[in-house]
Amino acid sequence: MVYLVGAGPWDPGLLTLRGHEVLGRADVVLHDYLVNPALLAFARPDALIEGTGHRPGRLPQDAINARLVAWGQAGKVVVRLKGGDPFVFGRGGEEAEALAAAGVPFEVVPGVTAAIAGAAFAGIPVTDRRYGATLGLCAGHRQAGAEDDPVDWAALAGLSTAVIYMGASQLRAAAAALVAAGRAAATPVALVQWASRPDQRTVVSTLAEAADAAETAGLGAPLTIIVGEVVRLRERLGWFERKPLFGLKIVVTRAQGQQGPLASQLAELGAEILPLPSIDFVPAAPDPAVLGQLGGFDLVIFTSANGVDFFLDALWAAGRDPRAFGSARIACIGPATARRLAERGLRADVIPARYVAEGLLEVLLAEGVAGRRVLIPRARVAREILPETLRTAGADVVVLPVYDTVEPPADAATLARIRQGEADLVTLTASSTVTHFRARFSDAEWAHVCAHTRAACIGPVTAATARAAGLDVAVEAGVYTIPGLVEALARR
Ligand code: SAH
Repeated sequence: MVYLVGAGPWDPGLLTLRGHEVLGRADVVLHDYLVNPALLAFARPDALIEGTGHRPGRLPQDAINARLVAWGQAGKVVVRLKGGDPFVFGRGGEEAEALAAAGVPFEVVPGVTAAIAGAAFAGIPVTDRRYGATLGLCAGHRQAGAEDDPVDWAALAGLSTAVIYMGASQLRAAAAALVAAGRAAATPVALVQWASRPDQRTVVSTLAEAADAAETAGLGAPLTIIVGEVVRLRERLGWFERKPLFGLKIVVTRAQGQQGPLASQLAELGAEILPLPSIDFVPAAPDPAVLGQLGGFDLVIFTSANGVDFFLDALWAAGRDPRAFGSARIACIGPATARRLAERGLRADVIPARYVAEGLLEVLLAEGVAGRRVLIPRARVAREILPETLRTAGADVVVLPVYDTVEPPADAATLARIRQGEADLVTLTASSTVTHFRARFSDAEWAHVCAHTRAACIGPVTAATARAAGLDVAVEAGVYTIPGLVEALARR
Protein backbone atom coordinates (compact mmCIF):
# COMPACT_ATOMS: atom_id res chain seq x y z
CA MET A 1 0.00 0.00 0.00
CA VAL A 2 1.40 3.37 -0.96
CA TYR A 3 0.11 6.60 0.55
CA LEU A 4 0.85 9.77 -1.40
CA VAL A 5 0.79 12.23 1.49
CA GLY A 6 0.83 16.01 1.40
CA ALA A 7 3.12 17.32 4.13
CA GLY A 8 1.94 20.93 3.88
CA PRO A 9 4.33 23.86 3.43
CA TRP A 10 6.52 23.40 6.54
CA ASP A 11 4.84 23.95 9.90
CA PRO A 12 4.24 20.42 11.26
CA GLY A 13 0.83 21.51 12.50
CA LEU A 14 -0.35 21.68 8.89
CA LEU A 15 -0.03 17.93 8.28
CA THR A 16 -3.49 16.34 8.22
CA LEU A 17 -4.59 13.85 10.87
CA ARG A 18 -4.78 11.18 8.18
CA GLY A 19 -1.24 11.98 7.07
CA HIS A 20 -0.04 11.72 10.66
CA GLU A 21 -1.78 8.39 11.12
CA VAL A 22 -0.36 6.69 8.02
CA LEU A 23 3.08 8.15 8.71
CA GLY A 24 2.99 6.43 12.08
CA ARG A 25 2.27 3.09 10.41
CA ALA A 26 4.71 3.27 7.51
CA ASP A 27 7.47 0.70 6.94
CA VAL A 28 9.08 3.06 4.45
CA VAL A 29 8.99 6.85 4.08
CA LEU A 30 10.26 8.56 0.94
CA HIS A 31 10.27 12.34 1.34
CA ASP A 32 11.05 15.43 -0.72
CA TYR A 33 13.58 18.08 0.24
CA LEU A 34 10.83 20.64 0.88
CA VAL A 35 9.39 18.46 3.65
CA ASN A 36 10.08 19.56 7.22
CA PRO A 37 12.38 16.90 8.78
CA ALA A 38 10.48 17.35 12.05
CA LEU A 39 7.61 15.39 10.46
CA LEU A 40 9.83 12.33 10.18
CA ALA A 41 9.70 12.06 13.97
CA PHE A 42 6.10 10.86 13.53
CA ALA A 43 7.38 7.76 11.70
CA ARG A 44 8.14 4.56 13.59
CA PRO A 45 11.70 4.45 14.89
CA ASP A 46 12.35 1.33 12.81
CA ALA A 47 10.89 2.75 9.58
CA LEU A 48 13.23 3.05 6.61
CA ILE A 49 13.48 6.75 5.80
CA GLU A 50 14.85 8.02 2.51
CA GLY A 51 14.98 11.42 0.87
CA THR A 52 14.74 12.05 -2.85
CA GLY A 53 17.37 14.78 -2.53
CA HIS A 54 17.54 18.18 -4.13
CA ARG A 55 18.76 19.26 -7.53
CA PRO A 56 21.20 18.52 -9.04
CA GLY A 57 21.43 15.25 -7.10
CA ARG A 58 17.69 14.66 -7.03
CA LEU A 59 16.60 11.09 -7.65
CA PRO A 60 15.15 10.95 -11.19
CA GLN A 61 11.35 10.64 -11.30
CA ASP A 62 11.59 7.17 -12.93
CA ALA A 63 13.71 5.96 -10.04
CA ILE A 64 11.23 7.36 -7.51
CA ASN A 65 8.35 5.65 -9.30
CA ALA A 66 10.29 2.36 -9.51
CA ARG A 67 11.07 2.42 -5.80
CA LEU A 68 7.47 3.09 -4.83
CA VAL A 69 6.34 0.22 -7.05
CA ALA A 70 9.00 -2.18 -5.73
CA TRP A 71 8.24 -1.43 -2.08
CA GLY A 72 4.52 -1.67 -2.74
CA GLN A 73 4.93 -5.03 -4.47
CA ALA A 74 7.04 -6.24 -1.55
CA GLY A 75 4.01 -5.67 0.68
CA LYS A 76 5.40 -2.67 2.52
CA VAL A 77 3.31 0.16 3.88
CA VAL A 78 4.85 3.11 2.06
CA VAL A 79 4.42 6.83 2.68
CA ARG A 80 5.49 9.10 -0.13
CA LEU A 81 5.72 12.40 1.71
CA LYS A 82 5.59 15.43 -0.54
CA GLY A 83 5.69 19.14 0.23
CA GLY A 84 2.34 20.93 0.10
CA ASP A 85 -0.21 18.82 -1.74
CA PRO A 86 0.92 15.77 -3.72
CA PHE A 87 -1.25 16.63 -6.72
CA VAL A 88 -0.34 20.32 -7.00
CA PHE A 89 2.86 20.75 -9.02
CA GLY A 90 4.20 17.71 -7.20
CA ARG A 91 4.32 14.97 -9.83
CA GLY A 92 1.96 13.03 -7.61
CA GLY A 93 -0.07 12.22 -10.70
CA GLU A 94 2.90 10.50 -12.35
CA GLU A 95 3.65 8.49 -9.22
CA ALA A 96 0.03 7.43 -8.84
CA GLU A 97 -0.06 6.40 -12.48
CA ALA A 98 3.04 4.23 -12.08
CA LEU A 99 1.45 2.56 -9.07
CA ALA A 100 -1.85 2.05 -10.89
CA ALA A 101 -0.05 0.54 -13.89
CA ALA A 102 1.82 -1.88 -11.61
CA GLY A 103 -1.34 -2.83 -9.76
CA VAL A 104 -0.06 -1.45 -6.43
CA PRO A 105 -2.91 -0.07 -4.31
CA PHE A 106 -2.49 3.56 -3.33
CA GLU A 107 -4.29 6.33 -1.51
CA VAL A 108 -3.89 10.08 -1.78
CA VAL A 109 -3.83 12.19 1.39
CA PRO A 110 -4.17 15.83 0.34
CA GLY A 111 -2.07 18.52 1.95
CA VAL A 112 -2.10 22.29 2.37
CA THR A 113 -0.61 23.57 -0.84
CA ALA A 114 1.91 26.45 -0.90
CA ALA A 115 -0.46 28.91 -2.58
CA ILE A 116 -3.04 28.54 0.15
CA ALA A 117 -0.56 28.33 3.02
CA GLY A 118 1.78 31.02 1.72
CA ALA A 119 -1.08 33.46 1.24
CA ALA A 120 -2.69 32.60 4.59
CA PHE A 121 0.60 32.98 6.52
CA ALA A 122 1.19 36.31 4.79
CA GLY A 123 -2.28 37.46 5.85
CA ILE A 124 -3.76 37.30 2.34
CA PRO A 125 -7.08 35.58 1.56
CA VAL A 126 -6.46 33.99 -1.88
CA THR A 127 -10.01 34.94 -2.79
CA ASP A 128 -12.15 37.72 -1.40
CA ARG A 129 -15.44 38.59 -3.04
CA ARG A 130 -14.69 42.30 -2.77
CA TYR A 131 -11.78 41.80 -5.15
CA GLY A 132 -13.18 39.21 -7.56
CA ALA A 133 -14.06 35.57 -7.77
CA THR A 134 -11.38 33.70 -9.68
CA LEU A 135 -8.09 32.12 -8.66
CA GLY A 136 -5.43 30.58 -10.85
CA LEU A 137 -2.32 28.61 -9.95
CA CYS A 138 0.59 28.22 -12.32
CA ALA A 139 4.12 26.87 -12.48
CA GLY A 140 6.51 29.67 -13.32
CA HIS A 141 9.83 27.95 -13.75
CA ARG A 142 9.93 28.18 -17.54
CA GLN A 143 10.70 31.54 -19.04
CA ALA A 144 7.36 33.15 -19.86
CA GLY A 145 6.69 32.97 -23.57
CA ALA A 146 9.56 30.58 -24.27
CA GLU A 147 8.83 27.56 -26.45
CA ASP A 148 8.54 25.14 -23.53
CA ASP A 149 6.39 27.49 -21.39
CA PRO A 150 3.07 25.76 -20.72
CA VAL A 151 1.46 28.74 -18.98
CA ASP A 152 -1.28 30.71 -20.69
CA TRP A 153 -0.34 34.12 -19.29
CA ALA A 154 -3.17 35.87 -21.11
CA ALA A 155 -5.71 33.62 -19.40
CA LEU A 156 -4.00 34.10 -16.04
CA ALA A 157 -3.97 37.88 -16.45
CA GLY A 158 -7.75 37.80 -16.58
CA LEU A 159 -8.20 36.17 -13.15
CA SER A 160 -8.65 38.09 -9.88
CA THR A 161 -5.80 36.28 -8.15
CA ALA A 162 -2.88 34.42 -9.71
CA VAL A 163 -0.40 32.42 -7.67
CA ILE A 164 2.91 31.40 -9.20
CA TYR A 165 4.86 28.40 -7.93
CA MET A 166 8.55 27.81 -8.69
CA GLY A 167 8.77 31.32 -10.06
CA ALA A 168 11.73 32.77 -8.17
CA SER A 169 14.19 32.61 -11.08
CA GLN A 170 11.73 33.71 -13.78
CA LEU A 171 9.84 36.37 -11.87
CA ARG A 172 10.84 39.20 -14.20
CA ALA A 173 9.59 37.40 -17.31
CA ALA A 174 6.41 36.22 -15.60
CA ALA A 175 5.51 39.71 -14.36
CA ALA A 176 6.24 41.17 -17.81
CA ALA A 177 4.05 38.52 -19.45
CA LEU A 178 1.13 39.37 -17.17
CA VAL A 179 1.51 43.10 -17.90
CA ALA A 180 1.83 42.42 -21.65
CA ALA A 181 -1.40 40.42 -21.40
CA GLY A 182 -3.20 43.41 -19.95
CA ARG A 183 -2.79 43.16 -16.18
CA ALA A 184 -2.09 46.59 -14.68
CA ALA A 185 1.59 47.14 -13.85
CA ALA A 186 0.49 48.55 -10.49
CA THR A 187 -1.22 45.29 -9.46
CA PRO A 188 0.02 44.34 -5.98
CA VAL A 189 2.29 41.31 -5.67
CA ALA A 190 3.30 39.46 -2.51
CA LEU A 191 6.43 37.34 -2.47
CA VAL A 192 6.42 34.81 0.34
CA GLN A 193 9.62 32.90 0.99
CA TRP A 194 9.58 29.79 3.20
CA ALA A 195 5.94 30.19 4.19
CA SER A 196 5.02 29.04 7.70
CA ARG A 197 8.64 28.70 8.81
CA PRO A 198 9.83 30.90 11.67
CA ASP A 199 12.12 32.62 9.14
CA GLN A 200 9.29 33.31 6.67
CA ARG A 201 9.87 36.52 4.70
CA THR A 202 7.27 38.48 2.83
CA VAL A 203 7.84 41.36 0.46
CA VAL A 204 4.96 43.32 -1.06
CA SER A 205 5.49 45.06 -4.36
CA THR A 206 3.79 45.52 -7.76
CA LEU A 207 4.02 43.66 -11.05
CA ALA A 208 6.27 46.45 -12.36
CA GLU A 209 8.71 46.23 -9.48
CA ALA A 210 8.44 42.72 -8.04
CA ALA A 211 11.57 41.31 -9.71
CA ASP A 212 13.72 44.20 -8.48
CA ALA A 213 12.15 43.98 -5.03
CA ALA A 214 12.96 40.28 -4.82
CA GLU A 215 16.56 40.94 -5.83
CA THR A 216 16.97 43.80 -3.38
CA ALA A 217 15.57 41.70 -0.55
CA GLY A 218 17.60 38.68 -1.60
CA LEU A 219 14.55 36.46 -1.86
CA GLY A 220 14.85 33.10 -3.56
CA ALA A 221 13.23 29.68 -3.76
CA PRO A 222 11.02 28.42 -2.36
CA LEU A 223 8.93 31.44 -3.16
CA THR A 224 5.18 31.70 -3.52
CA ILE A 225 4.18 34.66 -5.66
CA ILE A 226 0.69 36.06 -5.19
CA VAL A 227 -0.63 38.54 -7.74
CA GLY A 228 -3.87 40.42 -7.24
CA GLU A 229 -5.74 43.09 -5.32
CA VAL A 230 -6.25 40.66 -2.41
CA VAL A 231 -2.61 41.35 -1.47
CA ARG A 232 -3.81 44.72 -0.11
CA LEU A 233 -5.54 42.91 2.77
CA ARG A 234 -2.17 41.85 4.18
CA GLU A 235 -1.68 45.23 5.74
CA ARG A 236 -4.59 44.54 8.08
CA LEU A 237 -4.54 40.73 8.20
CA GLY A 238 -0.82 39.92 8.41
CA TRP A 239 -0.91 37.87 11.61
CA PHE A 240 2.02 35.47 11.51
CA GLU A 241 4.86 37.95 11.22
CA ARG A 242 3.28 40.07 13.98
CA LYS A 243 3.70 37.45 16.68
CA PRO A 244 5.66 38.95 19.59
CA LEU A 245 8.76 36.80 19.13
CA PHE A 246 8.56 36.41 15.34
CA GLY A 247 11.97 36.50 13.68
CA LEU A 248 13.89 35.75 16.86
CA LYS A 249 16.08 32.68 17.17
CA ILE A 250 16.12 31.50 20.75
CA VAL A 251 18.34 28.83 22.28
CA VAL A 252 16.61 26.56 24.78
CA THR A 253 19.16 25.02 27.14
CA ARG A 254 16.82 22.91 29.24
CA ALA A 255 17.44 19.17 29.49
CA GLN A 256 16.44 16.97 26.57
CA GLY A 257 13.27 15.65 28.18
CA GLN A 258 12.36 19.07 29.62
CA GLN A 259 12.60 21.29 26.52
CA GLY A 260 8.89 20.88 25.78
CA PRO A 261 6.96 23.49 27.76
CA LEU A 262 9.43 26.34 27.29
CA ALA A 263 10.23 25.55 23.66
CA SER A 264 6.60 25.14 22.65
CA GLN A 265 5.46 28.34 24.37
CA LEU A 266 8.22 30.35 22.70
CA ALA A 267 7.44 28.77 19.32
CA GLU A 268 3.78 29.64 19.85
CA LEU A 269 4.87 33.27 20.21
CA GLY A 270 6.65 33.04 16.87
CA ALA A 271 10.25 32.32 17.84
CA GLU A 272 12.49 29.86 16.06
CA ILE A 273 13.86 27.42 18.63
CA LEU A 274 17.48 26.29 18.62
CA PRO A 275 17.41 23.31 20.98
CA LEU A 276 20.71 22.90 22.79
CA PRO A 277 20.13 20.80 25.90
CA SER A 278 22.93 21.94 28.17
CA ILE A 279 22.23 19.89 31.21
CA ASP A 280 21.36 16.31 31.98
CA PHE A 281 20.69 14.57 35.25
CA VAL A 282 22.00 11.25 36.51
CA PRO A 283 21.17 9.54 39.80
CA ALA A 284 23.83 9.89 42.48
CA ALA A 285 23.26 6.72 44.56
CA PRO A 286 22.38 8.47 47.83
CA ASP A 287 23.94 7.37 51.10
CA PRO A 288 22.01 4.22 52.25
CA ALA A 289 22.71 5.14 55.88
CA VAL A 290 20.76 8.39 55.45
CA LEU A 291 17.98 6.68 53.48
CA GLY A 292 17.62 4.21 56.35
CA GLN A 293 17.37 6.97 58.97
CA LEU A 294 14.69 9.26 57.61
CA GLY A 295 12.48 9.01 60.67
CA GLY A 296 14.17 11.70 62.68
CA PHE A 297 13.72 14.71 60.40
CA ASP A 298 11.44 17.65 61.16
CA LEU A 299 11.65 19.20 57.69
CA VAL A 300 12.46 17.98 54.17
CA ILE A 301 13.35 20.70 51.65
CA PHE A 302 13.12 20.10 47.90
CA THR A 303 14.90 22.60 45.68
CA SER A 304 13.82 21.24 42.28
CA ALA A 305 11.43 18.84 40.56
CA ASN A 306 14.43 16.69 39.68
CA GLY A 307 15.33 16.48 43.35
CA VAL A 308 11.83 15.18 44.08
CA ASP A 309 12.08 12.53 41.41
CA PHE A 310 15.57 11.29 42.17
CA PHE A 311 14.94 11.23 45.92
CA LEU A 312 11.64 9.39 45.71
CA ASP A 313 13.06 6.97 43.11
CA ALA A 314 16.01 6.20 45.37
CA LEU A 315 13.69 5.73 48.32
CA TRP A 316 11.55 3.36 46.29
CA ALA A 317 14.61 1.44 45.07
CA ALA A 318 15.68 1.04 48.70
CA GLY A 319 12.37 -0.70 49.37
CA ARG A 320 10.79 2.28 51.12
CA ASP A 321 8.28 5.04 50.37
CA PRO A 322 7.51 8.56 51.68
CA ARG A 323 6.16 7.15 54.95
CA ALA A 324 9.87 6.81 55.78
CA PHE A 325 10.02 10.49 56.66
CA GLY A 326 6.76 10.26 58.50
CA SER A 327 5.33 13.51 59.71
CA ALA A 328 8.24 15.72 58.67
CA ARG A 329 7.03 18.91 57.03
CA ILE A 330 7.80 19.41 53.35
CA ALA A 331 9.08 22.68 51.94
CA CYS A 332 10.03 23.62 48.39
CA ILE A 333 11.32 26.70 46.62
CA GLY A 334 8.83 27.10 43.79
CA PRO A 335 5.56 25.95 42.26
CA ALA A 336 7.07 23.56 39.68
CA THR A 337 8.61 21.53 42.51
CA ALA A 338 5.33 21.66 44.45
CA ARG A 339 3.52 20.39 41.35
CA ARG A 340 5.93 17.47 41.00
CA LEU A 341 5.43 16.64 44.67
CA ALA A 342 1.68 16.69 44.12
CA GLU A 343 2.04 14.41 41.09
CA ARG A 344 3.79 11.96 43.37
CA GLY A 345 1.14 12.20 46.05
CA LEU A 346 2.84 14.64 48.43
CA ARG A 347 1.75 18.05 49.55
CA ALA A 348 4.21 20.89 50.06
CA ASP A 349 3.55 22.58 53.41
CA VAL A 350 5.72 25.59 52.64
CA ILE A 351 6.17 27.45 49.32
CA PRO A 352 7.61 30.96 49.62
CA ALA A 353 6.25 33.94 47.73
CA ARG A 354 9.64 34.56 46.07
CA TYR A 355 10.83 31.42 44.25
CA VAL A 356 14.51 31.51 45.24
CA ALA A 357 16.39 29.93 48.15
CA GLU A 358 16.45 33.34 49.86
CA GLY A 359 12.65 33.48 49.68
CA LEU A 360 12.33 30.13 51.43
CA LEU A 361 14.93 31.10 54.03
CA GLU A 362 12.93 34.19 54.94
CA VAL A 363 9.91 32.02 55.70
CA LEU A 364 11.84 29.35 57.60
CA LEU A 365 13.94 31.77 59.63
CA ALA A 366 10.82 33.68 60.62
CA GLU A 367 9.38 30.41 61.93
CA GLY A 368 12.65 29.58 63.71
CA VAL A 369 14.76 26.52 62.92
CA ALA A 370 16.99 26.19 65.99
CA GLY A 371 17.36 22.55 66.99
CA ARG A 372 15.40 21.29 63.98
CA ARG A 373 16.59 18.37 61.89
CA VAL A 374 16.45 19.29 58.21
CA LEU A 375 17.01 17.04 55.18
CA ILE A 376 17.83 18.57 51.79
CA PRO A 377 17.80 16.04 48.93
CA ARG A 378 19.30 17.86 45.94
CA ALA A 379 22.02 17.93 43.28
CA ARG A 380 25.54 17.22 44.48
CA VAL A 381 26.72 20.62 43.26
CA ALA A 382 24.36 23.44 44.20
CA ARG A 383 24.32 26.75 46.02
CA GLU A 384 25.22 26.28 49.68
CA ILE A 385 23.22 29.22 50.93
CA LEU A 386 20.31 27.07 52.11
CA PRO A 387 22.22 24.57 54.31
CA GLU A 388 24.72 27.17 55.50
CA THR A 389 22.14 29.72 56.57
CA LEU A 390 20.00 27.10 58.29
CA ARG A 391 23.03 25.75 60.14
CA THR A 392 23.99 29.23 61.26
CA ALA A 393 20.46 29.60 62.60
CA GLY A 394 20.94 26.47 64.69
CA ALA A 395 19.40 23.76 62.52
CA ASP A 396 20.92 20.31 62.17
CA VAL A 397 21.11 19.98 58.37
CA VAL A 398 21.81 16.89 56.29
CA VAL A 399 22.44 17.48 52.57
CA LEU A 400 21.69 14.32 50.61
CA PRO A 401 23.01 14.40 47.03
CA VAL A 402 20.48 12.45 44.96
CA TYR A 403 21.62 13.46 41.49
CA ASP A 404 24.46 14.95 39.52
CA THR A 405 24.15 17.42 36.67
CA VAL A 406 26.21 16.54 33.63
CA GLU A 407 26.84 18.16 30.28
CA PRO A 408 25.14 16.23 27.48
CA PRO A 409 26.65 16.04 23.98
CA ALA A 410 25.53 18.90 21.73
CA ASP A 411 23.99 18.72 18.28
CA ALA A 412 26.84 19.87 16.02
CA ALA A 413 24.65 21.76 13.55
CA THR A 414 22.84 23.74 16.25
CA LEU A 415 26.09 24.47 18.03
CA ALA A 416 27.63 25.75 14.79
CA ARG A 417 24.71 28.14 14.26
CA ILE A 418 25.09 29.53 17.77
CA ARG A 419 28.86 29.80 17.35
CA GLN A 420 28.32 31.88 14.23
CA GLY A 421 26.24 34.31 16.25
CA GLU A 422 22.87 33.32 14.74
CA ALA A 423 21.00 33.13 18.02
CA ASP A 424 19.34 36.31 19.26
CA LEU A 425 18.68 35.01 22.76
CA VAL A 426 19.57 32.12 25.02
CA THR A 427 17.14 31.10 27.75
CA LEU A 428 18.85 30.15 30.99
CA THR A 429 16.88 28.50 33.75
CA ALA A 430 19.61 27.67 36.27
CA SER A 431 23.18 28.70 37.03
CA SER A 432 24.34 25.22 36.04
CA THR A 433 22.91 25.68 32.53
CA VAL A 434 24.91 28.92 32.23
CA THR A 435 28.11 27.10 33.19
CA HIS A 436 27.43 24.19 30.86
CA PHE A 437 26.41 26.46 27.98
CA ARG A 438 29.60 28.51 28.42
CA ALA A 439 31.74 25.37 28.50
CA ARG A 440 30.71 24.49 24.95
CA PHE A 441 32.74 27.34 23.46
CA SER A 442 36.38 28.36 23.31
CA ASP A 443 37.22 31.81 24.70
CA ALA A 444 37.28 33.35 21.21
CA GLU A 445 34.00 31.70 20.26
CA TRP A 446 32.46 32.82 23.52
CA ALA A 447 33.35 36.45 22.87
CA HIS A 448 31.59 36.15 19.51
CA VAL A 449 28.52 34.50 21.08
CA CYS A 450 28.32 37.21 23.75
CA ALA A 451 28.44 39.89 21.04
CA HIS A 452 25.39 38.44 19.23
CA THR A 453 23.38 36.47 21.74
CA ARG A 454 21.73 37.96 24.81
CA ALA A 455 20.48 36.11 27.82
CA ALA A 456 16.92 35.60 29.05
CA CYS A 457 17.12 34.41 32.65
CA ILE A 458 14.60 32.80 34.95
CA GLY A 459 15.64 34.83 37.99
CA PRO A 460 18.26 36.98 39.70
CA VAL A 461 20.63 34.16 40.64
CA THR A 462 20.84 32.78 37.12
CA ALA A 463 21.11 36.33 35.76
CA ALA A 464 24.06 37.06 38.04
CA THR A 465 25.82 33.90 36.86
CA ALA A 466 25.10 34.85 33.23
CA ARG A 467 26.50 38.36 33.73
CA ALA A 468 29.57 37.00 35.44
CA ALA A 469 30.12 34.76 32.42
CA GLY A 470 30.03 37.82 30.17
CA LEU A 471 26.51 37.64 28.77
CA ASP A 472 24.32 40.67 28.35
CA VAL A 473 21.10 39.91 30.21
CA ALA A 474 18.24 41.28 28.09
CA VAL A 475 15.37 39.64 29.94
CA GLU A 476 14.92 38.69 33.56
CA ALA A 477 11.70 37.03 34.67
CA GLY A 478 9.65 38.87 37.30
CA VAL A 479 8.17 35.60 38.56
CA TYR A 480 10.91 32.98 38.76
CA THR A 481 9.19 30.22 36.82
CA ILE A 482 9.05 29.03 33.20
CA PRO A 483 5.72 30.83 32.59
CA GLY A 484 7.28 33.91 34.24
CA LEU A 485 10.22 33.72 31.83
CA VAL A 486 7.93 33.32 28.81
CA GLU A 487 5.87 36.30 29.90
CA ALA A 488 8.95 38.46 30.37
CA LEU A 489 10.14 37.48 26.88
CA ALA A 490 6.77 38.23 25.30
CA ARG A 491 6.67 41.67 26.93
CA ARG A 492 10.26 42.62 26.18
N1 SAH B 1 3.36 20.25 -4.13
C1 SAH B 1 3.81 21.51 -3.60
C2 SAH B 1 4.48 22.36 -4.66
C3 SAH B 1 5.78 21.81 -5.12
S1 SAH B 1 6.54 22.85 -6.30
C4 SAH B 1 2.63 22.25 -3.00
O1 SAH B 1 1.48 21.83 -3.17
O2 SAH B 1 2.85 23.26 -2.33
C5 SAH B 1 7.65 23.77 -5.27
C6 SAH B 1 7.19 25.20 -5.16
O3 SAH B 1 6.17 25.31 -4.19
C7 SAH B 1 8.26 26.15 -4.71
O4 SAH B 1 9.09 26.56 -5.76
C8 SAH B 1 7.43 27.29 -4.17
O5 SAH B 1 6.90 28.06 -5.21
C9 SAH B 1 6.27 26.55 -3.53
N2 SAH B 1 6.52 26.27 -2.11
C10 SAH B 1 6.57 25.07 -1.51
N3 SAH B 1 6.77 25.21 -0.18
C11 SAH B 1 6.84 26.53 0.05
C12 SAH B 1 7.02 27.32 1.22
N4 SAH B 1 7.16 26.78 2.43
N5 SAH B 1 7.05 28.67 1.09
C13 SAH B 1 6.89 29.25 -0.12
N6 SAH B 1 6.73 28.56 -1.23
C14 SAH B 1 6.69 27.22 -1.16
